[in-house]
Amino acid sequence: MDIYDTHAHFSEDREKTASTLARARAAGVARLMAVGGSPELNRAALLAQTLAPDATRLALGADRDQAGDASANDATMEAVRALHSAHACAAVGEIGLDFHYSPDTARSQCDLFARQLALADELALPVVIHTREADDATLGVLDEVPWRADAPRGVIHCFTGSPAFARQLLDRNFLISISGIVTFRAADNVRESARVVPIDRLLVETDSPFLAPVPMRGNENEPAFIVHTVKFLADLLSVPAEELAARTFANAVALFG
Ligand SMILES: [Zn+2]
Repeated sequence: MDIYDTHAHFSEDREKTASTLARARAAGVARLMAVGGSPELNRAALLAQTLAPDATRLALGADRDQAGDASANDATMEAVRALHSAHACAAVGEIGLDFHYSPDTARSQCDLFARQLALADELALPVVIHTREADDATLGVLDEVPWRADAPRGVIHCFTGSPAFARQLLDRNFLISISGIVTFRAADNVRESARVVPIDRLLVETDSPFLAPVPMRGNENEPAFIVHTVKFLADLLSVPAEELAARTFANAVALFG
């Protein structure tokens, strides 16, 4: 069964990343999205792509932790633009808002988020979005920034919101990506939300090195572990695991290549 892990972060340690990629391939991860978001994560994503160019797609960008005052955001945007002119990317990401960990920088997060959405529109690329405890602000920014209407806008990665929020994002032409959190005992809301997403709008991811799924909890997560998430989600949705893997693979290829 071939699986597309649509969200993985990597280490700048070349040997470690090479062995992570080898285990991923052996586990059936035929393609993955190497996701940046900070200068370190962007460099590590580029390293992963260098090590496995055929299997790896790239998302480079600036996440909520990079948000600063207007001039800091100017400098960050210049760096993100430079990355996108130097490298062929499949998406801008990850970008977005986190008011759980960083409520104090809400304004500057929204500014950086909006500017990267505009950049993605200009480059005709989809976006990879993180949103946590920021439902209204996320929808507000999305509705403010124009988007070419003819293409899916991107993915809400590691979705942990309510079914109602999932529907609002589906209405805005997003796909929803489910991580290993869906296997956690306490994650009833994620399971409920996964059920409202039509299978042609669904993606799967590890968000490694975070959030190892059951039964790998306690380990550093890696793309090879996505097999457990696919099997769990397939049971939840009452589809064969092979079919879920194939459908989410096709969805990811259509969005990211
Ligand atoms: Zn991430």
